[in-house]
Amino acid sequence: MHEFALTEKILKIVLSEAEAHQARRVQKIRLLLGELSGVVSDSLAMYFNLIAKGTIAEGAVLEFNREKARLYCETCRMEYEKADRDFLCPVCGNLGRLTDIGRECIVQNIEVE
Ligand SMILES: [Zn+2]
Repeated sequence: MHEFALTEKILKIVLSEAEAHQARRVQKIRLLLGELSGVVSDSLAMYFNLIAKGTIAEGAVLEFNREKARLYCETCRMEYEKADRDFLCPVCGNLGRLTDIGRECIVQNIEVE
């Protein structure tokens, strides 16, 4: 799955950030995980433990902040939060289109020592 490539990318970001702060260890990594990103957090955490071995990010805690998807309704010209069951606009009931919000998986911040 694409979690492996994504995890490699995350580790790279974390390590360069840690290096910029002359950190000795990375303790915690906060990730923003969109509900439509298709990323399985357990797989990501598993890959992370694997590829972070031997780096200063080894053993770091991964924290996932879930992000609700936002959609845009062309008819009402507004953004709205996706409901649990469907993608429909709460005002007019039309099918909204996806925005980037809720589809990404990004590093929010890291804690180092
Ligand atoms: Zn609408």
